[in-house]
Amino acid sequence: MTEENDEAWKELSEISADPPEMRDQCSQCRRPITVCWCPGLPKTPLCPQSRIIILQHPAEVKRCLRTAPMLSLSLEQNKCLLFRGKKFPSKHEGLMEILKEENTILLYVIRTQPAEGCLSTLESGAFSLSILENQSWYKDAMLGPLHYLCKFQLENGAVTHQSKEFLIKQKTYSKLVGKRLARQLKISSNVIHN
Ligand SMILES: [Zn+2]
Repeated sequence: MTEENDEAWKELSEISADPPEMRDQCSQCRRPITVCWCPGLPKTPLCPQSRIIILQHPAEVKRCLRTAPMLSLSLEQNKCLLFRGKKFPSKHEGLMEILKEENTILLYVIRTQPAEGCLSTLESGAFSLSILENQSWYKDAMLGPLHYLCKFQLENGAVTHQSKEFLIKQKTYSKLVGKRLARQLKISSNVIHN
């Protein structure tokens, strides 16, 4: 094989495989572009003094923690850590030390809590930080992605209320944020619009 050929093969092998299902996905939140909430994130990730630790039981992955990515993306990388498991701190290296640190906020979703009554992970984190650090704007900045989804939903609803696309999106949104939160968001944006 000539050197040129070698080079060509090398270049070919370096082209990253791009599976089809990834194409319409947001690279940040990893959600399909149609339901991406990234434009609602704070322009710069917040850097509070406290650090949020989320302990996630495997059974809660699909229920109360759908908003965990919103929480972690609204904060600087090391300000929100997620640990998944049934027992803590077992197997999680360094977790005990982190929990002992000052300025650590622990969020743990209790398994038996009914899905509808759950305070979302995002809300819990946003409210705790706002109160503990006495920065009420944190809360508004951090709830941005949820408000973005809600606004988007209302705007689309006004234009294409009966469209199949709208109905699919609406279903996706309420699945994402949960009924209780969806209702609350609807109320708060109605208040803003009126
Ligand atoms: Zn996104």
